[in-house]
Amino acid sequence: MKKFLAISGGVGGAKLGLGLTKILSEDQLSFLVNTGDDFKHAGVNISPDIDTLMYTLSGLSNQELGWGRADESWAFLDSFKTLGGESWFQLGDRDLAVHLRRTELLDSGQSLSEVTAELFSRLGVKYRCWPMSESKVSTKVYTDDSLLSFQHYFVRDHCAHEVKSIVFDGSEQAQPPQDLIEYFNDPDLAGVIICPSNPYLSIDPILSVKSIRRALACCVAPVIAISPIINGESVKGPTSKIMAELKLELSAKTVAMHYDGLINGFVLDTLDQQLVGEIEDTGCAVLVTNTMMNTLDDKTVLAQTVLEFCNNLGDLKCG
Ligand code: GDP
Repeated sequence: MKKFLAISGGVGGAKLGLGLTKILSEDQLSFLVNTGDDFKHAGVNISPDIDTLMYTLSGLSNQELGWGRADESWAFLDSFKTLGGESWFQLGDRDLAVHLRRTELLDSGQSLSEVTAELFSRLGVKYRCWPMSESKVSTKVYTDDSLLSFQHYFVRDHCAHEVKSIVFDGSEQAQPPQDLIEYFNDPDLAGVIICPSNPYLSIDPILSVKSIRRALACCVAPVIAISPIINGESVKGPTSKIMAELKLELSAKTVAMHYDGLINGFVLDTLDQQLVGEIEDTGCAVLVTNTMMNTLDDKTVLAQTVLEFCNNLGDLKCG
């Protein structure tokens, strides 16, 4: 049976992830998710990207807000504010229950992988989701005059600061789940899909874990990435703002080059058709298709196209 691994951050990754789950069963698809955004707030352990994927796959995500859980109430936050608690990170009541349970299970000695599996299962999601590390790795952003934790930069300060560089504290000592590393060598692995997530804030933290980067670079199965940049712009979030601040060319080609040495194939949006030749010249196969995922149909069609691309590259790799 052919198996696939989807590497994901939050919103962009979860969109394609949902499409993939409409085609592949839980025996065929697993996820590897960024935990560089994880932090402790109001006494609880929060894993934003894992939760975005979990809420998306379980059908519990809040469509209006674009984050958090549907059918949410805010009694905790109101009361917390009254008591002098910080309210820049909005914790809804249902969402808080997830973080409390995660914290309780972690405190009882379970690993983040085990806790994530338990939470997914309780919310009816059968797909395996590996965190990139069992130990803490924290994304931090250097601005002109300060070093900010990811959530202070992203949520509290709404990405207002100019980014000078990004670091992943703890990545040297990171402990990726052992069975994750073994999965890269599974003879049934038919493709690794780097979802259209922010390359600098969502995928780089994962790649900062040396054994994961090595496993990806040595992977026998084809590795492909989908561009989160369409026509020189990010669809949502600060990807293109960060690229400008890091003095990078605002182009999907920059993302393809960023993954140089790791990917065999790159998926470009139809609006970026003119970049095909330049990317192919670097030795990377290119597929052009609609990558804008507004509807469930868009997500499923893109997932199907991406899987076919993987299969074709796999045939080439195997001669
Ligand atoms: P975050 O952790 O919640 O910021 O989410 P991700 O890192 O997973 O996703 C953010 C990226 O997803 C941004 O760079 C967006 O441009 C990209 N993105 C969001 N929606 C789409 C889409 O429909 N198509 C494509 N190609 N990229 C998307």
